[in-house]
Amino acid sequence: MYNWLTMKKRTAVYPGSFDPVTFGHLDIIDRASKIFDHVIVGVFVHSAKKHMFSLDQRVAMLKTALKGRKNVTVDCFEGLLVDYMKKKSSKLVIRGLRAISDLEYEFQIAAVNRTLSPEIETVFLMPRQRYTYLSSSIVRDIAHFRGDVSKLVPPHVSKAIAKLKR
Ligand code: ADP
Repeated sequence: MYNWLTMKKRTAVYPGSFDPVTFGHLDIIDRASKIFDHVIVGVFVHSAKKHMFSLDQRVAMLKTALKGRKNVTVDCFEGLLVDYMKKKSSKLVIRGLRAISDLEYEFQIAAVNRTLSPEIETVFLMPRQRYTYLSSSIVRDIAHFRGDVSKLVPPHVSKAIAKLKR
């Protein structure tokens, strides 16, 4: 979808921790890739936060899950999202909304980003019903107790979880 005035492609950034990527994230990416010309999945680099998977592992798992999707790329970034958006020449942030409970937090983040950089628009997308309960933290909790996550994440992520040492 070109903007006919500027002939520019619309690039959107979908930021998150993706620790690990779930079917919920992939549902949102699918929807976004149908709306925008190019979707950049941006993995946050949070050195202070404790993660189940390293940054490299999270990026690699996303790349495997998104193989073959021509208009989706995976990247990572440190620092403020608004600075990364500028670097990527994008003004569109994608976030997923699972339930009303996400709204308060997402509303705050979107408002702060708009304050820092008024030209940025946050676009909220809803996943299909069956993924509205799904989060990476639920996957991590189930994984911690060696539960079955095969209905929540792609097979290569299930395998990576099974290999984790405890
Ligand atoms: P999580 O909240 O699962 O730990 P992230 O920090 O990686 O995941 O989230 C990145 C974005 O993806 C956020 O906007 C979050 O609301 C959204 N998201 C995560 N899981 C889902 C889901 N099951 N359905 C829709 N959006 C989701």
